[in-house]
Amino acid sequence: MFSKILIANRGEIAVRIIKTCRRMGIRTVLVHSDADTGSLAYEMADETVHIGPSPAAQSYLLQDKIVDAVRRTGAEAVHPGFGFLSENAGFARRLRDEGIAFIGPNPEAIDAMGDKITSKKFAAEAGVSTVPGHMGLIETPEEAVKIAAGIGYPVMIKASAGGGGKGIRVAHSDADMAEGFAAVKAEALNAFGDDRVFLEKFIVDPRHIEIQVLGDKHGNVVHLFERECSIQRRNQKVIEEAPSPLMDEATRMAMGAQAVALAKAVNYDSAGTVEFVAGQDKSFYFLEMNTRLQVEHPVTELITGVDLVEQMIRSAWGEKLAFGQDDLKIDGWAIESRIYAEDPYRGFLPSIGRLVRYEQPEEGEQDDGSVVRNDSGVREGDEISMFYDPMIAKLCAWAPTRIEAVDAMARALEDTHLSGLGHNVPFLAAVMDQDRFRSGALSTSYIKDEFPEGFHSLAPTDRQKAAFIAAATAMNEVLAEQSGDPSERTDWIVLIDREPHAVSLSYDDAEDLVVSLADEDLVLTEIDWRPGLAQFRAVLDDEPFTAEVKRTADGFDIRHRAARARVRVMTPRAADFYARLPEKQAADTSKLILSPMPGLVVSIAVTPGQEVKEGETVAIIEAMKMQNILKAERDAVVKSVGAKAGDPVAADDVLVEFE
Ligand code: ADP
Ligand code: ADP
Ligand code: MG
Repeated sequence: MFSKILIANRGEIAVRIIKTCRRMGIRTVLVHSDADTGSLAYEMADETVHIGPSPAAQSYLLQDKIVDAVRRTGAEAVHPGFGFLSENAGFARRLRDEGIAFIGPNPEAIDAMGDKITSKKFAAEAGVSTVPGHMGLIETPEEAVKIAAGIGYPVMIKASAGGGGKGIRVAHSDADMAEGFAAVKAEALNAFGDDRVFLEKFIVDPRHIEIQVLGDKHGNVVHLFERECSIQRRNQKVIEEAPSPLMDEATRMAMGAQAVALAKAVNYDSAGTVEFVAGQDKSFYFLEMNTRLQVEHPVTELITGVDLVEQMIRSAWGEKLAFGQDDLKIDGWAIESRIYAEDPYRGFLPSIGRLVRYEQPEEGEQDDGSVVRNDSGVREGDEISMFYDPMIAKLCAWAPTRIEAVDAMARALEDTHLSGLGHNVPFLAAVMDQDRFRSGALSTSYIKDEFPEGFHSLAPTDRQKAAFIAAATAMNEVLAEQSGDPSERTDWIVLIDREPHAVSLSYDDAEDLVVSLADEDLVLTEIDWRPGLAQFRAVLDDEPFTAEVKRTADGFDIRHRAARARVRVMTPRAADFYARLPEKQAADTSKLILSPMPGLVVSIAVTPGQEVKEGETVAIIEAMKMQNILKAERDAVVKSVGAKAGDPVAADDVLVEFE
C-alpha cells in the first residue's frame, strides 16, 4: 500500500481524506495556500507544503506546484478531492507520465465523461436512457428554434462544458429559445472557455437521483445504490439523502445496471457518480457522469458501511474490489445537510467572516440509536474567507427509517451553533419540519415551491412559545441570582414579540423550577445557561430543549429551529406601561444603498451631486467570487458616498446616500 499520499485540496474534504489515511496507516502531505496556513487540515496532516497565495488560480490549480510538492516530500499518490483539479484529465495524465498515482479514474475515462455532449453519446451507445433531445452541436438561435420545435417545449438549453449549475436555462417558447440560446452560449464561453451548446427536453417537476459507482483496475464495477439530491437552489444541491424515497427495487436495479454499464463502457476504475433526472412516474434519464468523489458521498457510506475514500485509494494502488454487487445491502436511511456561510434571511447572499462560536453536535451513535456525522473543515475562531467555496460542514444523520433520520437531522441541527457570520442552519431546520419534506414528496423545484418569497423566520408554534417563556423566565432567574439581589417576585409577564403571557414561578419538592402558564405547568430541570452563553439548554417536561439566545437591551432574542422571537420578561406594571408605548418605527433606509453582505467594494459608480435613473448601477460588492450589483430603485440625486473601490465593508454599511 502507498505509504504517503498528497492531498491537493483544502477544507472539509482534506480533513475527510486525512481521517481515512490515518486509519489506513498512510502518511499525509497537505498543500496549502496563504489563507489555509494553520487550518484544521493543516494541523492534522503529517506534512504541509505552502504552494502560493490565496486565490485558487495561484495555488490549488497550479499543477507545477503540486507535482513539485510531490517530488519534495516523496509522496507516491495524489488525492484531488472534489472541485479544483479533480476532473482535469490533463492533470491525471501528467501524474501518470511522471509515475505518480492519481487517486481517481484513468484520464481516458475522465475525457470520455468530461463534457455533457460526449458523455451523452457514450451513454446512449452503452444502452443508457438519455433525455430526449438533440445530440449535435447547435450554432445559431434560428437553428435552435427549429430543433426545439421537434423536441417540444419546455426545452433545456445546456452548455456542454457546464458544471455547478451554471450554463443551464429553460425555454418555454420560441422567443425564450432565441434569447436563452445566445445567453447560455455567452455564459459558457465566459465561464468555461467553451461555447458549445445543446438542447434537451426539460423534464417537468423532476427529481435528481444519482448512482454511486465504484470500479477497480481489473474490470470490476459495482454500484452502491442511489442518492436523491432534489433539494436544490439554483440547480445546486443543498440536502441529499440515501436511499431515495421515490425508488422501488425494480427501478433501483434498472438504474444501477445502466450506471454500471456506462462505467464499464469507459473502463471506469475509481469512485464516480452517474447522475439521472427522474420523472415522478419513475421514468429516468442520464444527465452526466461526475468522475470524482461527490460532495454528498457520506450518505452512501452511512447506508452501506463502505468507506469510499479508502476504496479509491485501494483501487489506485491496483487492488481488486474486495466485494461484489451481491455483498452490498442498504441499511437504514441517511440525510446530509450542507451548512453554508450564507444569509438565508437576505436571499442566501454569501456571508463571510470569523466563526466566533462553533458548537458541533456530538458525533457517533446517539442514545436513540441514530448516528450523527459532521464532516467539518473549520474550528471555532477560524475565518470563512472569500476565496473558496462557502461550505462550513456537511452534517449527516443516519437512522433505521427515513422519518427517524429526518428527526435525527433536526436534532443535530438544533445542536449546531454558529455565530459571527450568517449561516443556513435555520433554513435547513425549516425544511426538516415541513410536512412535504417529511412525506418524501420531493422535486428539484421544492425550494422554489415552498419558499416562494424567500426564507423568513417562522412565528413560534404554541409549543415553542411555551418553551420560549420557560427559557426566558429561567434565564431571568439566573440573571437575578447573579446580580446578588434575587427578587422574590413570582408573577411575571412575558412578551413574545408584543404578545403578553402571564406567568407564575414556583419550585417543586425536588427544587426544580415550575413555570405556570394560563393552562399548563412546565417543569425545567438541568438548566444550562449563564450570561455570555449563546445557547440555552434544559430539560422541559422530560424533553431536551436547546435554543439559540442572544441578550438584547431589554430581553432575549430566541431561535429554536426556524422559529424566532423577541422575548422580554417584565413585571406586570412595566408590561402595562410598555403596552401603552407606540411601536417603534424602523429607521428610514429608503434613501440609502446599504451593503447587503460583508465583502469588498469592487466599484462605486456615482459621485456626490450626480443624478441617477432608476435601475442604474450605483455600486458593485464582491464576496466569495460572487458579485452583487446594486442599482438605484428610483430616480434620485446622490448626496454622499460612503466607500470607495477596494474598501472592505460589513453588511448594512452605507455605500451611497441620496438627497
Ligand atoms: P456534487 O455534484 O459533488 O454534489 P456540486 O455539483 O454541488 O457537487 O458542485 C459543483 C462543483 O463544485 C463540483 O465540481 C464540485 O467538485 C465543486 N464543489 C462543490 N462543493 C465544493 C467544496 N466545498 N469545495 C470545493 N469544491 C466544491
Ligand atoms: P451540472 O453539471 O451543473 O451539475 P447537470 O446536468 O447535472 O449540470 O444539471 C444540474 C441540475 O439541473 C440537475 O440536478 C437538475 O435539477 C437540473 N436539470 C438538468 N437537466 C435537466 C432536464 N433535462 N430537465 C429537468 N431538469 C434538469
Ligand atoms: Mg450535475
